Amino acid sequence: MIKENIEKILSKIKNSAQKCGRDPDSVKLVAVSKTFPAELVIEAVNAGLKDFGENYVQDFLTKYDKLEKYQVKWHFIGHVQTNKVKYIYDKISLLHTLDSVKLAEKLNKKLTEVNRILNALIQINIGREPNKYGIFEEEVETFLEQMEKYKHINITGFMTIPPFFEKKEEVRPLFAKMRMLLEKFSTYNENLKELSMGMSHDFDIAIEEGATIIRIGTAIFGERKRRN
Ligand SMILES: *Cc1c(COP(=O)(O)O)cnc(C)c1O
Repeated sequence: MIKENIEKILSKIKNSAQKCGRDPDSVKLVAVSKTFPAELVIEAVNAGLKDFGENYVQDFLTKYDKLEKYQVKWHFIGHVQTNKVKYIYDKISLLHTLDSVKLAEKLNKKLTEVNRILNALIQINIGREPNKYGIFEEEVETFLEQMEKYKHINITGFMTIPPFFEKKEEVRPLFAKMRMLLEKFSTYNENLKELSMGMSHDFDIAIEEGATIIRIGTAIFGERKRRN
C-alpha cells in the first residue's frame, strides 16, 4: 500500500517536473510521518525513501530511537519551542521552521557546544495568516542579517505552509511569490537554494512554481486520526 502510494507520487513528481522543463531529481520528497508509528516509517524506508518529516518532538523522539539503525534523514517541520531545542538540535538534518531570532539564538548555542552546523529554512507566512508561524516577506531581509552572527546555523532557503484553498489553483500566486523571494535573496546569498512548499493536495503546483522540497503525508500514509 505505502509502496504503491510512493510510486504514484514519484510518477506525479516526474510528470509535474517534465511539464515545466525541470529535472525530476531536483525535487526532494519528504515523507511526513507525523502521528504514524515507526513500523510504517520502516515500510516507507524499505520502499526506498530516506527523508522523513516530523512536527511533534515527543512523537519524533520515539521514532528516532526505533529507527536508529536505518539511514534516515529527519526533517523537523513543526514549530519548535525554545525549551524543546535540546531534544532535537543534534538529531535532524534540516529544520524547516526557523521563525524567530530567539529560536536561532538557542539553537546556535547548543550547536556551538557540540561544534555542529545545522541546515535550516526560514519559515515564511506568505498568506499573512494570524494563526500561523513564520515571518512576513518584508521581514526576510532584516531576519537574514540577524542570522549572520549565528555561525552554526546554515540557512539554505525558505519554507511555507500556505492557506488551504478548496480550488488548489488559487495557491499558485503564493508559491510564485515564494519563488520570487528566493530569486531575490539568492542573488547575494548563494547558500539560498531550497524552497520547501507543497503538500499532498497541491504539490504538483508547488513543483511547477519551483519547489525543491515537497512534504507529503496523507498521500503516502493515509488519513491521520488527529488533525494538525
Ligand atoms: C502535516 C504536514 C504536511 C503534510 O500534509 P499532507 O496534507 O498530509 O500531505 C506538510 N507540511 C507540514 C508543515 C505539515 O505539518
